[in-house]
Amino acid sequence: MDNITIARLLDETAALLEIDAADPFRIRSYRRAAEAVEQQTTQLATLVAEPKQLLAIAGIGKGMAANIVDLVATGTMPLREELLTKYKPTMLELLRLPGMGPKTVALIWSALQVADIDALETAAKEGHLNKLPRMGEKFTTKLLKGIEDYRKNSSRFRIDQAREYADRISDLIRAFPGIDEITPAGSLRRGRETVGDLDLLVTGPACEASVVAAAVEHVASLPLIDKLLAKGQNKVSFTLRNNLQVDVRLLPRASYGAALQYFTGSKMHNVALRQRAIKRGLTLSEYALLRLEDNNIVAAATEAEIYNALDLDYIPPELRENSGELEAAASHTLPHLITIEDIRGDLHMHTDATDGRDTIRQMAEAALARGLAYIAITDHSKNLAMTNGLDDVRALAHIKRIREVDAELQQDLSELADALAKDTPPTNSRLANLWTQLKNLPPRPGLENSSSRPEAAHFAAAAEGPASLPLNFRVLPGIEVDILADGALDLDDSTLAQMDIVIASVHGHFNQTIEEMTARVLRALENPYTRILGHPTGRKVLSREPYAIHIGQILKRAAELGVAVEHNASPARADLNDLHLRLAKEHGCKIVINTDAHATEELDQMRHGITQLRRAWLTKEDLLNTQPTAESLLTQLRPKP
Ligand SMILES: [Zn+2]
Ligand SMILES: [Zn+2]
Repeated sequence: MDNITIARLLDETAALLEIDAADPFRIRSYRRAAEAVEQQTTQLATLVAEPKQLLAIAGIGKGMAANIVDLVATGTMPLREELLTKYKPTMLELLRLPGMGPKTVALIWSALQVADIDALETAAKEGHLNKLPRMGEKFTTKLLKGIEDYRKNSSRFRIDQAREYADRISDLIRAFPGIDEITPAGSLRRGRETVGDLDLLVTGPACEASVVAAAVEHVASLPLIDKLLAKGQNKVSFTLRNNLQVDVRLLPRASYGAALQYFTGSKMHNVALRQRAIKRGLTLSEYALLRLEDNNIVAAATEAEIYNALDLDYIPPELRENSGELEAAASHTLPHLITIEDIRGDLHMHTDATDGRDTIRQMAEAALARGLAYIAITDHSKNLAMTNGLDDVRALAHIKRIREVDAELQQDLSELADALAKDTPPTNSRLANLWTQLKNLPPRPGLENSSSRPEAAHFAAAAEGPASLPLNFRVLPGIEVDILADGALDLDDSTLAQMDIVIASVHGHFNQTIEEMTARVLRALENPYTRILGHPTGRKVLSREPYAIHIGQILKRAAELGVAVEHNASPARADLNDLHLRLAKEHGCKIVINTDAHATEELDQMRHGITQLRRAWLTKEDLLNTQPTAESLLTQLRPKP
């Protein structure tokens, strides 16, 4: 049994556990083990005689090692067999449909013996689902639409998943000596919210034509490969366990820029660029920019040289959609695009008071460690009962607690600064913890070399030591208040008046008509306490279409009232999308970018959102939470009544 099969079986067990509503930590341990196994360069089947070597792999404990021994010896393992007596592996796919949580999947199985998408579709169409508890006509309609969308989207991957795989494959390729640079090209480099396949361009001394064969062999034997599709002179194509297709091209340094330009696209951008070349007596290909009359190379090694030779400023990949970027580059008017280092605050996140995982203090320390100067804690309101949303009484108690944490943290930071200035390590354990958090900032694996991880500089800035301690770091009290079906907000005005940050969001009744939904959101904007409109179209990338709404009317009114519109940086939402963001700027809207983090590590989602802002041509000046301090931010928001 090879590693990929072991990984697939472990991953499948994780999903079966999910349907079985098992402990999330247990589920995660199987997922982590699957990832660890597929990264290994040695076949585990050769190690099972020496279980100690299995235990040396990060992510594999004693129990997991025993599982692997069982898998290799028998092709299966006891837990998997036990779960397969209750469920079918095809049920895993059902979890990806809207409204289909583990409990629903299990119920439909036990009531109707339906375990795959085709059978589910038939059952829905024949009206069998309607007879089950909590699955009325509405549920069925939504589900059928979901199945249709799923079939349309199942060959595409979200930007965060594509980036994760790009990083993991790059780390493995880099292990080969003589590799200098690896850049994901195609739609991932342009920052599209989804990608169809992954293009990786590799260069370095090992990629020169005379020696490239050895590097090609290395790539063709990467442990992550599920199916090897093709192995050419300098190109390897394969698929991963999740069916993502990867094309790796190994290119000599001298033509790397031309290849990057060519394979980054977009098609329309490249067509326009080639026409521009021809007008100048030049021809552009994946190998070089050549002069037509004598075939001499004009530029090839870097993209900047190529653009400059065509009398253009360098065009950032996110703008290469042939939507005005060539004209702007010719007239030297390209925008100075926003970067992650420009972001100083994050105004939307959840804690364990509702459906988040971590405490207020943990979220604040994690934000500090990422170099931010302020955050807002914005938990859910009571209408979202499944998240344990806050009613007025609890909301007021919660913001009291947020203010306390804010005061404690300011006190701690100033004591910490004193201690460090006197060169004495902090004595009390809370300060010591805080200091450890701040100085052990992630330069995380691969961060230094990877051009696909723009947050590197951001972390570096925060890691400068005591001198850069953000003594004015603030935790602002806020709420993500539900916009009810009729457009009223879910909490009392007197409660909202106590909050610095009021985000109003739609979380239900998505099926209203476009007129109803537009009127509903407009009414929420009119509430004088609404300062930010959260994830304004409600879409979920690859799983839920936006609700019907006249977005232009919403943006226009938000601009008039001074309500900021959100870009939700969660890669599952990416809402507003790039086109709507560009429209928001045209309407003169205030714009904020937030992670909507439900756990500390989700604060890192900011990087995905920044990409979408860049695709929308936005600059530092277009965003409110580039303001350096909480005080200056608050002056930019809609004034309280
Ligand atoms: Zn929300
Ligand atoms: Zn939220």
